[in-house]
Amino acid sequence: MTASGEHRLPLPAAEIRRLVEADRRHLWHPFTQTKEWAEQPMLIVAAGEGPYLIDVEGNRYLDGVSSLWVSLHGHRREEIDRAVRDQLDRVAHSTLLGLSHVPAIELAEKLAQLAPGGLTRVFYSDSGSTAVEAALKIAYQYWQQQPDRTKRYKRQIVSCHRAYHGDTLGAVSVGGIDLFHACYHPLLFPTLKVHYPCCYRCHLGLSQPRCGMACLEELESLLERQGHTIAALIIEPLVQAAAGMITAPRGYLQGVERLCRLHEVLLIADEVAVGCGRTGTLFAVEQESVCPDLLTLAKGVTGGYLPLAATLVREQIFEAFEGEYAEGRTFFHGHTYTGNPLAARAALASLEIFEQDKTLENLAPKIRHLTRRLEEFRTLDQVGDVRQCGFLAGIELVRDQAAKEPYPVGERRGMRVALEARRHGLLIRPLTDVIVIMPPLIISLPELDRMLDILHTCIRTVTES
Ligand code: PLP
Repeated sequence: MTASGEHRLPLPAAEIRRLVEADRRHLWHPFTQTKEWAEQPMLIVAAGEGPYLIDVEGNRYLDGVSSLWVSLHGHRREEIDRAVRDQLDRVAHSTLLGLSHVPAIELAEKLAQLAPGGLTRVFYSDSGSTAVEAALKIAYQYWQQQPDRTKRYKRQIVSCHRAYHGDTLGAVSVGGIDLFHACYHPLLFPTLKVHYPCCYRCHLGLSQPRCGMACLEELESLLERQGHTIAALIIEPLVQAAAGMITAPRGYLQGVERLCRLHEVLLIADEVAVGCGRTGTLFAVEQESVCPDLLTLAKGVTGGYLPLAATLVREQIFEAFEGEYAEGRTFFHGHTYTGNPLAARAALASLEIFEQDKTLENLAPKIRHLTRRLEEFRTLDQVGDVRQCGFLAGIELVRDQAAKEPYPVGERRGMRVALEARRHGLLIRPLTDVIVIMPPLIISLPELDRMLDILHTCIRTVTES
């Protein structure tokens, strides 16, 4: 018997067949074309250990995207297991509507201590999308409750082309990935859109550093013209993750913050993907010394254990919601499992691990190693761009490197690399033809090397065929 629960593996062949059949009959997988799913070999995870996932047949795979960008300290991390079990011995759930509970208080206190300047209030929810919904509604209501009536014209939200903030309708309204969202346009509220910089395919046709960050001018002129009608701007700091790990040039975020301050527009930093240490600092905005007005966290906040999200808010914004009940300033928003005690305990344990293990100090040499090793991918004929921010990277495959021409969508090159990698013992999930590298922060250097070796081989196999 092992710590990972492998003692029960492999499952008997008949049991595996039954599971496969039941999955095909009853399960609808997210972001998955059901026809493709039916045609692919099915991998059913049964256990995990550190940076590995183990399937029902007992095969071990490196978890190359941290189980969708969440598993920071690896699977079955003893301290988080214990924290959740301890909490189970107390209470699994109690509401935050009209009551409080110990883990929610302790986690809010901790997040407020750790967060960049002034984000002292924590509003819990349960996913990245719901954290974004709360942020948008808070920002909107904040202006509606200003004593200065002219401020109540501030009703619009600025968001970015190609942005991804989740799949609930508010989050989709501020999103910009047509492949995912175009179909729902009639259901969405209108937003003002600006370009997010993509230096590989600059929409202005310029190149760094001579461009002088001209991409900020669009936002500048929008805010000059309409700032008095704009409540907030929402942005993915440093990286547009789901868009294909599009990294913004250094200083762009600071420029956005400066313009928001100038025009009294609230800055919402959506750190659902890039928060919790992924960029090398606990919060991504720290990399450019930016202090947003609201900041959303989810995904890795519980170390990849349980669904929990937090919308961090400046005290001054929170204060605008205080008043007599009849004044109608209450934030009438919240979900049943908001701030669940088990999840909050897991998050506290995860933050303790950051301190105990000096996770971020230990991450720095791995980030440098990743930078060095990524150079090898740039030399491949079918690699158009390699983008890295801290401990995440995207390798964009293209049909024609010189013309930066993508592969036809139907060729599914990215997915084919993922399936090939699986045969070599590595799990990844691409974003179209961008190969995503997002390993658990605790992965060792030899494991990281193995992951990159596999990817190099598989990219060659799939693009040279
Ligand atoms: N915001 C960002 C920046 C994200 O990358 C995501 C998910 O990838 C979300 C929000 C939505 O998070 P969730 O899937 O937990 O709703």
